[in-house]
Amino acid sequence: MRNAIFAVESSYASELEGFYVPWKPVAAPTPRLLYLNHELAEDLRLDLTAVDRPTLAALFSGNRLPEGATPIAQAYAGHQFGRFSPQLGDGRALLIGEVIDRYGKRRDIAFKGSGRTPFSRDGDGKAALGPMLREVLLGEAMHALGIPTTRALAVVGTGEPVYREKELPGAQLTRVAASHIRVGTFEFFAARGAYDRVRQLADYTIARHDQALVGEPERYLDLLRAAARRQAALVAQWMNVGFIHGVMNTDNMSIAGETIDYGPCAFMEAYDPAAVFSSIDAHGRYAFENQSRIAQWNLARFAETLLPLLADDEQRARALATEVVEGFADVFQRDWLAGVRAKLGLRGRVEHADRIDAALAEDWLALLQADKVDFTLAWRRLAGVAEGHPEPLRGLFADQRALAVWLDRWRARCAAEDLESPSSEGVNAGRSRANSMRRANPWLIPRNHRVEEALLAASDEGELEPFEQLLAALKHPYDEQAGLARFAEPAADSFTAAYRTYCGT
Ligand code: AMP
Ligand code: MG
Repeated sequence: MRNAIFAVESSYASELEGFYVPWKPVAAPTPRLLYLNHELAEDLRLDLTAVDRPTLAALFSGNRLPEGATPIAQAYAGHQFGRFSPQLGDGRALLIGEVIDRYGKRRDIAFKGSGRTPFSRDGDGKAALGPMLREVLLGEAMHALGIPTTRALAVVGTGEPVYREKELPGAQLTRVAASHIRVGTFEFFAARGAYDRVRQLADYTIARHDQALVGEPERYLDLLRAAARRQAALVAQWMNVGFIHGVMNTDNMSIAGETIDYGPCAFMEAYDPAAVFSSIDAHGRYAFENQSRIAQWNLARFAETLLPLLADDEQRARALATEVVEGFADVFQRDWLAGVRAKLGLRGRVEHADRIDAALAEDWLALLQADKVDFTLAWRRLAGVAEGHPEPLRGLFADQRALAVWLDRWRARCAAEDLESPSSEGVNAGRSRANSMRRANPWLIPRNHRVEEALLAASDEGELEPFEQLLAALKHPYDEQAGLARFAEPAADSFTAAYRTYCGT
């Protein structure tokens, strides 16, 4: 269409013919713009400030496409709960195109909830408003926490109902991602024995995400290593904020290392390594504590797709892949430990630091688990202890003795590093440590009860203010904001015990 508001490129569509089906979004009868991420639009160098709302609604409902758009439904497969589905694909999503952001990075622009595609199977291709706003809240919270994630650019109400357990308002989300290349994208072609396609996809992926590897003789093995590093870093960050993805199927694991697919995810409240909220995860496959092992399992599925590219000799290819997959555990442990050290306010090294710090962190988590202490509050209040205010933390624990013993160990560890490398801060060392801890331990996470409250108001009453207020609060998770204390309060135990999240809703 002429006079387009913005233009997109289509490298995936033009370079990877045969990896998708060209398709069009279904028209929305009466689109209404409900959310626009101005900050992200600026990052993408999209100038939308002068565009009126009806035009934006037309644009983000797909009724009017950006210039250069070649909408496609991407093909992918995936292991879902351990079982292989050779064909999943974009059943209710379309890749519209790509833009180059202000940092020079190519970012995908995709619709979710844009209608049926050849990959829809029994699905209606639609999305309900609540889950799309949930994706906004959780994704923006994740971004503000400093964790790699896909992000929502816009949400439009379609003016059409969707039918789930009841009739719900329909919506469409515009998702921005480093790319939508998943482990499952590789699996789709590997499962069909189409190794020329796997190579083509790997080359595209390398050119897009690991440019330094272009032309390198070991580039496919290095791509596997790079994907492993990114996923390890990502899951370590999830673990350190209490995030449970909930559906870590291989089709939901991005090679670019972003958090993707905000379906049944949730943030943990009381610390419980076995925490699961997803209604369909009956056996806790994707429980909090399993996430790094699942990431490793998914990585093994990715590695299998690359085998013919790694070496001519199959045994050698397997040995190379196995080394990377097995090495994932150590890479993850290193990332996790680095994160947890920052949370503990440990900056310097002492002798045997790795062993001491890992034990310190694990014993702390065991204390939280034993007393069912809120994960976020406990970490945040530990910062206060560094400044000589242990009371708020103590208030969270039943077993005061165990806490006191642990705090003595932690103080000793802090003192040891301060002795080793005395800082110029002198008597202010405590305050400085507390401040750095507050940058590693968020004051605010998206609390499940507050998220649900906001979504209910939007979905049932068309009232968007609670959503907007919560979203604004989540933009500054590391700053204590006096007026927003209600968002930081844990839910009642009874709420959390009954809380269930849903996939693909
Ligand atoms: P997910 O659980 O969101 O990762 O989706 C798994 C698969 O189901 C993907 O192929 C989706 O495109 C597809 N899917 C999810 N919801 C729908 C829907 N409402 N209509 C069609 N396909 C869907
Ligand atoms: Mg998915």
